[in-house]
Amino acid sequence: MVYFFAAGKSDGDASLRSLLGGKGANLAEMATIGIPVPPGFTITTEVCDMYYKGGKQFPAGLKEEVAANLAKLEAETGKKLGDPTNPLLVSVRSGAADSMPGMMDTILNLGINDEVVEGLIKKSNNPRFAWDSYRRFIQMFADVAMDVEKENFEHALEAMKHKKGVVLDTELSSDDLKALVQEYKAIYKKIKGEDFPTDAQQQMWLSSEAVFRSWNNDRAIYYRKSNDIKGLLGTAVNIQSMVFGNMGETSGTGVCFSRNPSNGDNYFYGEYLMNAQGEDVVAGIRTPQKMSVLESRMWSDANTINEADRAAKYPSLEEKMPEAYKKLVGVRDLLEKHYKDMQDMEFTIESGNLYILQTRNGKRTGSAAVKMAVDMQKEGLIDEKTAVLRVKPEQLDQLLHPRFKVASKRTIIAKGLNASPGAAVGQAVYSAKVAVEWAEKGKNVLLIRIETSPEDIKGMAVAKGILTARGGATSHAAVVARQMGKPCIAGCGALNIDYKTNQMEVAGNIIKEGDWVSFDGSTGEVYLGKVDTEEAVLSGAFGELMAMADKFMDGKIHVRANADSPKDAKTAREYGAKGIGLCRTEHMFFEGVRINSVRKMILSDTLEEREKALAELEPMQKADFKGLFETMHGYPVVIRLLDPPLHEFLPHTEAEQKELASLMGLSFETVKHRVDELHEFNPMLGFRGARLGIVYPEISKMQIRAITDAAIELTKAGVHIIPEIMFPLIMVKEELDIMVGYAKEIIAEKTAKAGVNPHILLGTMIEVPRAALTADEIAETAEFFSFGTNDLTQMTCGLSRDDSGSFLGTYVDKGIFEYEPFQVLDQKGVGRLMKTAIELGRKTKPNLEIGICGEHGGEPKTVMFCYEIGMNYVSCSPFRVPVARLAAAHGVIKGMK
Ligand code: PEP
Ligand code: MG
Repeated sequence: MVYFFAAGKSDGDASLRSLLGGKGANLAEMATIGIPVPPGFTITTEVCDMYYKGGKQFPAGLKEEVAANLAKLEAETGKKLGDPTNPLLVSVRSGAADSMPGMMDTILNLGINDEVVEGLIKKSNNPRFAWDSYRRFIQMFADVAMDVEKENFEHALEAMKHKKGVVLDTELSSDDLKALVQEYKAIYKKIKGEDFPTDAQQQMWLSSEAVFRSWNNDRAIYYRKSNDIKGLLGTAVNIQSMVFGNMGETSGTGVCFSRNPSNGDNYFYGEYLMNAQGEDVVAGIRTPQKMSVLESRMWSDANTINEADRAAKYPSLEEKMPEAYKKLVGVRDLLEKHYKDMQDMEFTIESGNLYILQTRNGKRTGSAAVKMAVDMQKEGLIDEKTAVLRVKPEQLDQLLHPRFKVASKRTIIAKGLNASPGAAVGQAVYSAKVAVEWAEKGKNVLLIRIETSPEDIKGMAVAKGILTARGGATSHAAVVARQMGKPCIAGCGALNIDYKTNQMEVAGNIIKEGDWVSFDGSTGEVYLGKVDTEEAVLSGAFGELMAMADKFMDGKIHVRANADSPKDAKTAREYGAKGIGLCRTEHMFFEGVRINSVRKMILSDTLEEREKALAELEPMQKADFKGLFETMHGYPVVIRLLDPPLHEFLPHTEAEQKELASLMGLSFETVKHRVDELHEFNPMLGFRGARLGIVYPEISKMQIRAITDAAIELTKAGVHIIPEIMFPLIMVKEELDIMVGYAKEIIAEKTAKAGVNPHILLGTMIEVPRAALTADEIAETAEFFSFGTNDLTQMTCGLSRDDSGSFLGTYVDKGIFEYEPFQVLDQKGVGRLMKTAIELGRKTKPNLEIGICGEHGGEPKTVMFCYEIGMNYVSCSPFRVPVARLAAAHGVIKGMK
């Protein structure tokens, strides 16, 4: 239940991550490879699980194991917990197998009380440090373990600073801090009705329990849900000997990354504060300084000051503590080589001595992830497979975010830290609560805060961007925003935010709640009003990573796009689509004047009239198809014949129907009658798909003629095209036989006349369970299958795709479905049917081309599944194509292992 770690004496290592949590496993490993780590021990995640399963009780035997490990720790440090003559102070910190930055609890300086503080003063000869540690402990312990909110103490601290006429807590004297400790204890007693706990053992157990409890606090649950973290046992508890960054001007603490987590550049990136403890850096109370001279210059350039002023005003750690800095650079290099990934490290310098308190693979933006993967592969640190796997497909979404147009007009009103890239435009709101309320009403909001805390996470999740007045690049706002892929500016000191009036003053402008603001998370600039944005340009490292991904996919699986216009097809091609997997021809019917001919056709009483209307549509359809084939030359294009129920093309309000009647020279009653006639109770299971073509063959035939003519003309012109005609909603083979019969006849006649023979593949969607179950028969006629998983999910689960939104969320919350089945394929149910259909289909035609074109085709988990079950391609919306390509490559690489 408990694992010890100390230089050369660790029980665990990095392979025990699920048991020791990321922090515990890496502390054990670092101690082993010679990194200076304060010794300690880890209570495992299994104990957390037992704690919950046992009705929030520590399991039997834990007390004894902890006691034995504490004795080891005391022997290692030569100090004793709670001993006033030679006190050991410890930190008690959370740490799950997946890192959840800032979501769970930590307590520092534990083991202090009125006697111990005296001992600490004697040993350190530094009363200010001792009282500072004591007041920090009371506040943290009370807040985290005893439910006494930290604001109660912060008011007292602010009042003391005010009384003393100082701004920073570092300016308070030893006596001030001593007085604060007395005040803090009184506050605690007043709220809790009992004295502050003085027994070190009791403090330790209460803190450990608080850490376990924090596994299930609101924000931790929300974080796991929104980051899809599942199946973990709980958090570990790390109890570690304290080292002190608050011992004076040769002490300090910081957070640093082995590379820039915002853009991926390879330089040491981070921040430190002198005479401080870790919480001060992340909390954003004082704005920290940079690690290196280089970084300090990059940052201060924005403030256009000369080098001497820069060094005085923004001293880097490199200048302030060159020895410790050099050691830290060594640690950075060692850890990055050891873990072969960008590291996010916490360090403390105690009286000039460097200690590492934590390392983990750092969170990063999508563009940084891509850049680092490509760079590390070139540096020889990782191979191509690892580089491709290093970037999560979802992360690419961030890269595909819009940016500001170069020529757009902008009025800069402030500049802060460029903490997370991307263009953000929205209405100013000053609280997370309002952000959530407004976003629910469909508004675009920017969350503007003095600083953010983990309680703000829901507001951050719905905001278009996050802007803070205080804090650095590793503050809570910055870390969370980067991971969410949201633009963020932190530490923008020019914002004078007033929570009482819900407005801010910036460079003479008053920005009220609801006023529009824009900012660029890549440059740190804040602009007045709405600034025009444009789509991202994909090149450089992105292109290199995608090329690597494509190499693995080559010949195994490819990605097509769902596109209905040459414009979308062009975007899809630019994003790397190797074909169109679905052109929904009904979308073309709404283009320009086409809708009038479509309506005329639907309102016709006779075949003759219908054919007249269809004849108007035919040349337009031919031009549509030519445009698509031409744009996608060299690649396949799947054209699906008309699918939706006809009533979708007719107007539904009386006014619109009257207008249509007069346009068509019909009476209003005639139009209304036809609309009523077409009304269905279950249109999705009604008169749609191939059923339209069975009853009105002339509609399908018009489309087939247009496709064939387009194909012939382009083939004659020397364009290499690969057309595929797809029949929707097939349920029985006989239906498909009839439809394919029409097509074969038309194609044979037209190609014979034309003297060219563009090979047109004839296939079907598999979106009705009956078709999936009889796929062997259907494959006798079909030359390809494409799974329409929207309809297939609807019909397999008996869930209406239009009406189930209102309750499916509850199904996911209750764990009935792991994910919403219209977003992430239900592999167990719908997936099983697909597997069956593929097996049956390929029994008849071993080389049958098979793809997917439902919305799931761009969802990474589904894409990997589609590869596993033997599909030739997935097809998704153009903007998802890069995501699908990377997911497909992941599927291939994982399949190799
Ligand atoms: C499907 O059903 O998955 C599909 C692609 O067709 P549509 O969404 O147009 O019904
Ligand atoms: Mg469908």
